[in-house]
Amino acid sequence: MSKSRYFTESRSQRGQAHSLIMALVFAAALMSLTWFAKLSPFMLSMLMQSACYGIAVLGMVVVLGYTGQINLGQAAFFGFGAYGVAIGTTVYGLGFWSALSIGVTISALAGAVIGMTTLRLGGHYLAMITISFQQIFDLIAVNWIEMTHGPDGVAGIPRPELGTFLLSDDRAYLLVCFAMLAVLIALISYLPATRWGRAMFSVRENELAAEVTGIPTLQVKAGAFILCAVLGALGGGMYAGGFSYISPDNFNFSRAVEFLSMVLLGGAQSPIGGALGTTLLILLPEWLKDMPKSLQFIKDIYLVIYGLSVILIMVFMPQGIWGILRKLWSRPEVDEVNDDFPPALSLENASLTKNQDPHVLLKLEGLEKHFGGLKAVGGLDISVMRGTVHALIGPNGSGKTTTLNVINGIYKPTGGRILIDGVDVTNAFPHERAAQGASRTFQNIRLFPGMSVLENVMVGAQRGNNPIAPGEKALRERALSALEFVNMRHKAGQIVRNLPYGHQRLVEIARALAGHPKLLLLDEPAAGLNQTEKGELVVLLKRLRESHGLTIFLIDHDMKLVEGVSDTITVLNFGKKIAEGRPSEVLRHPAVIAAYLGDPDATA
Ligand code: ADP
Ligand code: MG
Repeated sequence: MSKSRYFTESRSQRGQAHSLIMALVFAAALMSLTWFAKLSPFMLSMLMQSACYGIAVLGMVVVLGYTGQINLGQAAFFGFGAYGVAIGTTVYGLGFWSALSIGVTISALAGAVIGMTTLRLGGHYLAMITISFQQIFDLIAVNWIEMTHGPDGVAGIPRPELGTFLLSDDRAYLLVCFAMLAVLIALISYLPATRWGRAMFSVRENELAAEVTGIPTLQVKAGAFILCAVLGALGGGMYAGGFSYISPDNFNFSRAVEFLSMVLLGGAQSPIGGALGTTLLILLPEWLKDMPKSLQFIKDIYLVIYGLSVILIMVFMPQGIWGILRKLWSRPEVDEVNDDFPPALSLENASLTKNQDPHVLLKLEGLEKHFGGLKAVGGLDISVMRGTVHALIGPNGSGKTTTLNVINGIYKPTGGRILIDGVDVTNAFPHERAAQGASRTFQNIRLFPGMSVLENVMVGAQRGNNPIAPGEKALRERALSALEFVNMRHKAGQIVRNLPYGHQRLVEIARALAGHPKLLLLDEPAAGLNQTEKGELVVLLKRLRESHGLTIFLIDHDMKLVEGVSDTITVLNFGKKIAEGRPSEVLRHPAVIAAYLGDPDATA
């Protein structure tokens, strides 16, 4: 057999190797600079500030860059770490590292609470909630004087010991901060190559599709906030130890906006970008101080320039400075071909739960979905038999997509029950239904456009209960075999947004197949395809039908396609079933013909 070469390494992994090397070089350079150059005390303190802020900004990379959630409360998490160290050491006489651990733990708890109580909201609401959280923190820091010493702040915070070595020398302390920053940059760079990282990316790219594909989006967002809170507190604790004095104005809303600007300027999607943005925004005001007299007016309008630059950055370079730099030295959008790969696995389907009903895989009982007064689905009973292709057809607006949305949990039904393989999933989350073996595609394709084809399909393989070996290798092989099945394996390294429409359809089907579904729900898979592509789709559907154990519930407009592939057809009109049976019978049914010709009397 000839050895073919395949894409096996995802873009993010390559990016990480890149980032990792950069992080080490960066750290080594900074550390030798710290140690050998005769830096002024002022320079040392600037660098110390950069390192501590940099650690907190890494949290912003995780939450904003990776997961796509806004956070305007990072200064509060920073504050938890700082006050933990300050109060723990000066009031309670704890050691530095114990006090830091307590601060970090409290911060993580706060992150979890913010995450779990508010993340269902997202968007503008999330911004408002993190701002309120930030303001509450500020109020407590200023007003709970017995605890925080109020506006006076806490002084006399001791330096930590490392082993038996007291880090009283600024250079030694700075070295420790840089080492910590470098390790954390390396860890955060590695995250995208793990299931958690990919889950975060999928939430950022398309939250609804991620949830339906099997990602527990709520947990992923809460996890991202917890990690962000931990990083914020670590930075804050190191800051308190470094400067030995803190006061509330280090942790107020404008500091939180600064953290946001730093990550946006440097590049939110990369840890190195975050560190770069931090350093620039800390040094910039200092450089501006030394400007010639004629330019001093800039200082007066400094805030205006600052705000304006942030807006310009967001509009014109959303990838930040680091994103631009990376584009200059790497072909950004295509992965390298670098590996041989074993032949594709079969799509053989594993039965997951004990079959409750040997005949029926999907059962809808009296299913209803109302939108206000509109009965989009009005009491639907459908039994989809195991191993068959069952089509749902009907005129535009007859309730087909709504039915699918209720089946996989995007909408809660107004009434009725849904059983998948005998399990009642009426009240389950969409990702739990995916874990139950229900995959789907969307009428308007919903992929993760900024991720590679392979990463998209790997997210599909990541669903709960997928009967594959644990670990990245099995996920990747599973994804590649699904891509092979739809004949898209040679595109594995491409970024999805660059693919033509027809190919995106195929990737979406591969993503659904990668999870070993029992039930595949396809919403108008032929929509937007040209004649050639439609022909290929029919061939693909027939191959799917022949693969063992897969049951397909399909919506389409194209009668020829539906007639060619389905065993059973159910016809909907105005949310009600008007006919059901074998294609040859159903398509000649007078009520069906009337519904398609738009004669309302005949359907009653
Ligand atoms: P089909 O897929 O058969 O073309 P849909 O299921 O998309 O039809 O829509 C059925 C009916 O429900 C339509 O009248 C549509 O306007 C309405 N509908 C669908 N989704 C919503 C929604 N989220 N809110 C209000 N009405 C909706
Ligand atoms: Mg539809």
